[in-house]
Amino acid sequence: MRLRNIKGSKEVIAASPYVVQNPEDYKGKWSELFHNNHPLHIEIGMGKGQFIHTLASENPDINYIGIEMYSSVLYRALEKQTAEEKPNLYFLRFDAKYLADIFAEHEVDRIYLNFSDPWPKDRHAKRRLTSPDFMKVYDQVLCGDGTVEFKTDNQGLFAYSLEAIPEAGWRIDAFTEDLHHSPMAEGNVMTEYEMKFSAMGNPICKLIASR
Ligand code: SAM
Repeated sequence: MRLRNIKGSKEVIAASPYVVQNPEDYKGKWSELFHNNHPLHIEIGMGKGQFIHTLASENPDINYIGIEMYSSVLYRALEKQTAEEKPNLYFLRFDAKYLADIFAEHEVDRIYLNFSDPWPKDRHAKRRLTSPDFMKVYDQVLCGDGTVEFKTDNQGLFAYSLEAIPEAGWRIDAFTEDLHHSPMAEGNVMTEYEMKFSAMGNPICKLIASR
């Protein structure tokens, strides 16, 4: 997701109490930020943040961090947080490629990837958030029984992920190519993209991976 540059978004992000400005300082001690030892779930590429805001409201005993590369997108997620503050939710403007710089080994309990950019050209395959390079990074920061949960409507990216994830040494614990008509739909929280694409009639795919 790229939004038109929003004037002043960088300044709003820099001044926001909900954005962690120096995430490297919290490596190995994110529990200090939340003042508790609750499990830590992160969403990479959370866009405007509907999914993570809903989860944070529904699960006060889980700590959430939404990670987004672009200021204009993060700015939109922050508008929701300002309107309805949640003590178990923080945001980072950060490239997930460098997750191991900000989370210690096994510090994260779950990683959500929702409607990640498909990067259909072979030469961009390394940018896909389910590529072996990214799975290696997740392996570093996820706890032993931690999971990666991935949703998309993009059939090409999903087929690629079903192959690439096991090739990276992970197990696919469950998957569906039509989430909204599957038992995996129980408790499903929709993202902005999920609402848009399912309204267009696109089936939603989901997989859960662990190692
Ligand atoms: N998850 C939201 C949803 O389902 O509605 C937004 C999906 S949007 C297509 C994907 C988002 O991932 C974009 O906002 C993009 O900036 C972000 N993104 C892509 N690669 C990223 C990376 N390496 N680190 C952090 N964010 C990333």
